[in-house]
Amino acid sequence: MWAHDEWTEDDRLLAVAYRLHRDGLCPCGCGYPRSQAWSEDMDGWYEAREVTCYARAAREAWEHDRRDSKAELEPGTLLVIDDTRHTSR
Ligand SMILES: [Zn+2]
Repeated sequence: MWAHDEWTEDDRLLAVAYRLHRDGLCPCGCGYPRSQAWSEDMDGWYEAREVTCYARAAREAWEHDRRDSKAELEPGTLLVIDDTRHTSR
């Protein structure tokens, strides 16, 4: 990411637009705008369904393996889930 003094006017406008979008979302994690999700007109219109996120499944498998090993992570360690379709294993 660039330092803020290198941002163009378009970058600033996009950052403001993104923040407005993000701030308008319901904080519960449903992903819908609060103006929609909190409207009584929407009562009964949402339905839950199960989907599988295979990237999350890879993370959970890693976490399960980590739990068994009980080894500490180095400070600052991040878990990155790579899409390996186009890389050699
Ligand atoms: Zn919500």
